[in-house]
Amino acid sequence: MEQIEQLVVLQKVDSEMITLERILEDAPKQLRSLQEKQAYLKQQQDVIQEKVDVLMEQKSRLEGEIENDTQKVKKSKNKLMMVENTKEYHAMMREMDTMEKMNRSREEERANLLADLSDLEGRKEALQGDIDSLEETITAQQSTLDQELAEKRARIEILEKEKRKASEAVPAPILTRYNFIRDRIPNPVIVPVSEGVCQGCHVVIPPQAFIDLQKGEQILSCPNCLRIIFWERHFSGND
Ligand SMILES: [Zn+2]
Repeated sequence: MEQIEQLVVLQKVDSEMITLERILEDAPKQLRSLQEKQAYLKQQQDVIQEKVDVLMEQKSRLEGEIENDTQKVKKSKNKLMMVENTKEYHAMMREMDTMEKMNRSREEERANLLADLSDLEGRKEALQGDIDSLEETITAQQSTLDQELAEKRARIEILEKEKRKASEAVPAPILTRYNFIRDRIPNPVIVPVSEGVCQGCHVVIPPQAFIDLQKGEQILSCPNCLRIIFWERHFSGND
């Protein structure tokens, strides 16, 4: 009877350890997905920055050309006064006209560039906002997680001690049987029988086995699922 009780303790400890280990494994996943999302946003920001760089280069080239042709037009205007030949005069007028037209279209192009640049800067800022708020969430989650994990690890250490204690009280062959089953079927391994039904596989125990179980003299297995069984009225398994 006491051996069964220790097996019930062992099962309780094992179940809690399995739960804790699953939490330890899953907990960092959410954090990792946030970090991945943040890395993706940063990458998008870099792509935008590259576009900004290209547009800035175009803008400075355009401004150079505008300035260059503005100077040329100015010089031509000064020279125009000195021209005596009508043909030469018209040629210079046409040349100035062409340069001024080109500069007007360059100004238009420049205005479009500025609009695109301001659009890109806006997107970059919005991304930065998202990146910053993710950073806050990540930092907060990281510290909660570190604390939680430390608590869980401390609890696992206590459970390991309890497990060792309970294992010592159980005879080696039964412990071997327990471990053998534990490696092969889903937790739990030690299950109560309630109203003649195995709570591991929910199949009715044969009447004779149920009578033997109630005597509490030997350690029995469920003939259907092979889990080690105990009568629920012997131990609640919850205290
Ligand atoms: Zn069963």
